[in-house]
Amino acid sequence: MIPTMNLNDEQQNAAHYDGSARHLLVLAGAGTGKTRTIIGRILYLIQHKVPAERILMLTFTRRAAKEMLLRLQNHAGKSADQLTAGTFHHFCLQVMRRVPKAFKVEDRTVIDRDDAQSLLQLVRGELVKKSEKRDFPKAVTILNYISYAKNCCIELPDYLQQFTELDDNTMQRITDIAQQYDVRKQQRRYLDYDDILHLFVQGIESNLKLRSRIAGLYQHVLVDEMQDTNPLQWRILQALSSAKLFCVGDDAQSIFAFRGADFRNVHEFETRLQNATILKLQQNYRSTQPILDIANWLLEQSDLQYDKHLVAHRGRGLKPRLLDFESKFDEADWIATDLQLRHENGAAWHHHKVLVRSAWSAKTLEGALIDRGIPYRFVGGTSLLEAAHVKDLLAMCRAAISAYDELAWIRYLKCWPKIGDVTAAKLVQQLIELSPADNPLEVIKSNLPKREDIQHGIALIQQYRSEPQIAIKLGAEHLSKALSQRYDRWDSRLGDLRLLSDLANRYKDLQGFVEAYTLDPVSNSEAEQAEQDDCVTLITVHSAKGTEAPVCYCLGVQPGMYPHLRSLGDADSEEEERRILYVALTRAQDELIITRSGDDNRTLFHGGSFVHSVGSSYFFEYLPVKLVEHEHFGFHSGHGGGSVLDELLDFE
Ligand code: ATP
Ligand code: MG
Repeated sequence: MIPTMNLNDEQQNAAHYDGSARHLLVLAGAGTGKTRTIIGRILYLIQHKVPAERILMLTFTRRAAKEMLLRLQNHAGKSADQLTAGTFHHFCLQVMRRVPKAFKVEDRTVIDRDDAQSLLQLVRGELVKKSEKRDFPKAVTILNYISYAKNCCIELPDYLQQFTELDDNTMQRITDIAQQYDVRKQQRRYLDYDDILHLFVQGIESNLKLRSRIAGLYQHVLVDEMQDTNPLQWRILQALSSAKLFCVGDDAQSIFAFRGADFRNVHEFETRLQNATILKLQQNYRSTQPILDIANWLLEQSDLQYDKHLVAHRGRGLKPRLLDFESKFDEADWIATDLQLRHENGAAWHHHKVLVRSAWSAKTLEGALIDRGIPYRFVGGTSLLEAAHVKDLLAMCRAAISAYDELAWIRYLKCWPKIGDVTAAKLVQQLIELSPADNPLEVIKSNLPKREDIQHGIALIQQYRSEPQIAIKLGAEHLSKALSQRYDRWDSRLGDLRLLSDLANRYKDLQGFVEAYTLDPVSNSEAEQAEQDDCVTLITVHSAKGTEAPVCYCLGVQPGMYPHLRSLGDADSEEEERRILYVALTRAQDELIITRSGDDNRTLFHGGSFVHSVGSSYFFEYLPVKLVEHEHFGFHSGHGGGSVLDELLDFE
């Protein structure tokens, strides 16, 4: 007998739903147990004799999928093992790898955003004259246009017409560049992230037999974070809707519009699908009421009707603190001191999360933490697998897998001394013209007869393709000859490469490993390794979705950050910024500490009914005093932190 989860009546109604509707959407606020209800649903299904292999669970990150699988295994043991779980990208790729011909993805290598941008940069370089380069949209911008149009299922020219103010000529040329980018990807056997979803949808929509075979694999499809799915992902769900869909989401937490997320997938759930219904959850189990009060207030200020009022099952607790600092250095210093004090008083480091708007805005705090030796990990910024030396090793693996992988070959060749752009480009040109039967090592041998090391590295990896752990370990040692001169602190970098080899242990073949890590570098990196370590988590709000911690600091809640400068002037983007702040505030379980800093962040008046300060965050401009404990640090006119030396300031 599989033990069930502890669920309240509403959650149980959803998890044990057996009514007449085929498809279910659980629409509910933060911390109301949506993710828990998905797990409860799966346990219920397994208990009621649905074979686990007939269940598909789609999540927003692989980290989330892994955490949920772990919780399922805790309850259901081995019976949960056969479940398919992962992101949309991960799922589509797994399917396409089984039937590559049907999807036209034989021999295709997955490339990450950085590589996609490098490739587009090459194409842009060829199609845009030098004299125009400065004013023409950058590669990253063009890639965003292409990606957004694809994810929203809009033709690129239509997208450019509708959403940009570019002139006709520029639009035409961007379309040409996009076409050429596609050609280039095909020649080099590349798949970028968006192609994974796009080709999957094309494949199943154009081949009904294939579609019904794939859809027939699953009886139940469960989707977490439904509010962040985009139109392309919606089409995937539609194609799978011969299974029963069980989706959970919160429209107030929709924060991925910039990637094409469309919360109509939530709002129109009932009308777009036949025989669908919506259930709600009311009680929040994560936080105490004062934390929810400020989150509720934030949504109430919006012109949109979110129709959310979170009520804490846990009842009263500490009021959130709102702390003003003179500068970001004071702010960082205070947080580091506070963390240290809590730790000295017996709190574990990992009970603390610092939520930041961007990796960049965490830099000052990182400095303060390092200074005091406070252990931390960063989630959501550059991860181990995006570090240059790791990318070099992965490029070596990719080159060994595919002779057509232009970017990987260039990167690998350039690891070696005295090989620059010109030599690398010449060699690569020859490699990608090879027929599949030819051996790329012969080409290298005839071009660089005295550089045996270069061929040897590739041959070594090829030899161990089915033992990725050994391939990576030997590859790292071999590459060390080329790289130890190039990078500083080589010993610690070699340690990273060994770590990579340990991670590869779980994969049956090298391509699977490289692919998994190209798809989702963040969740596989330090975050996974350091999970058991006791350390403070610094995390971007976008990565913190779905997570929680007893004590949360929201850093830099000031204009320019919330709302982000980028969003100003565009009503939809500003509204998305409100939701980002909402996600940040609702991560805290027991204590929420909101900090802000800035030279013009001086309080205008005390004792009024609003926590009002010049340049205060736009969202908190009229924050009622009663919702927070408001304190100032380091203002010579204010409380606390002032120095007697400040008395010298008016000396003339
Ligand atoms: P988010 O919107 O942030 O993704 P969510 O709605 O998915 O949140 P969960 O993460 O599932 O919420 O739950 C929030 C917290 O409340 C978790 O710690 C969870 O274990 C706890 N919780 C949820 N329901 C119950 C319950 N019925 N009994 C006890 N604890 C619960
Ligand atoms: Mg959740």
